[in-house]
Amino acid sequence: MVTIRKAKQIISIQAVLLSAFFIAGFNTGNANAQLVPESQCSKPPCKCDDIETIERFYLQQQQNLDAWEEVLKEFFTSNAPLDPADARNRYSSKTTSDSVLLSKCPSWQGQAEIKLGGLDSSGNPEFDQCFCNTFCDKIVDSVIVHEQRHYYNIITLGVVSLPSSIIAKLIPGDLGRYQQDSLMAQLLTLSEIDAHRTQVSYLEDTIRELKSKYSNDPYADDPQRECTWNNLTSLKTERTRLTQPLPETFTDRVRLLLARISHGNEE
Ligand SMILES: [Zn+2]
Repeated sequence: MVTIRKAKQIISIQAVLLSAFFIAGFNTGNANAQLVPESQCSKPPCKCDDIETIERFYLQQQQNLDAWEEVLKEFFTSNAPLDPADARNRYSSKTTSDSVLLSKCPSWQGQAEIKLGGLDSSGNPEFDQCFCNTFCDKIVDSVIVHEQRHYYNIITLGVVSLPSSIIAKLIPGDLGRYQQDSLMAQLLTLSEIDAHRTQVSYLEDTIRELKSKYSNDPYADDPQRECTWNNLTSLKTERTRLTQPLPETFTDRVRLLLARISHGNEE
């Protein structure tokens, strides 16, 4: 019989295993970056000159979101990701890093994986030092928004997926291990989609606000010079979406996925 203590243990093991895979970055995997607390970040306020960089960062995150949604589709095929590492590798193969963004930090040159930020064991944000001292505050804050969604999701998904986890634990041998690995990969993918969507939405609002601010007050940044920029995107980029929309809330998405694992794709 599974006791409450055992259930808590399963949730906490899931959280620890999954947290290792939650990385905010460009084309990243298990990066080994040295992260610093927010107090060591200058996070310069975003100004007119930063709009192009914010747009680039926004497009990068949108591309990352698309890549994770493609990974999610693969769970409903015969070639489903086997575990969280497999899911992250597939994600990495579907996205490319913006070379202009990459060129802003010398320490990133030549690295295959760049970790921009994360949360420490107490849930406080921490960052790559060059990133949080070079990029303006709204970009850095969008990474906090992203990570905080993972923090929330870890708790939610631990509870929602507990029955499936317990069943997987009770299945002996390779099949049980496969079920558990597959479940973790799916939860990772759902959490990444949720975190990226929240981050993309935050960046959309930021660009809109900055453009509106400088449209109304073109000299706000520098009284000697009018503020202009080249639009990289209208914020309404046509993108390939999932054929069927996902449920609104993260919890509902986890439930849908777990139902599909149990009953197949027919519902
Ligand atoms: Zn993430």
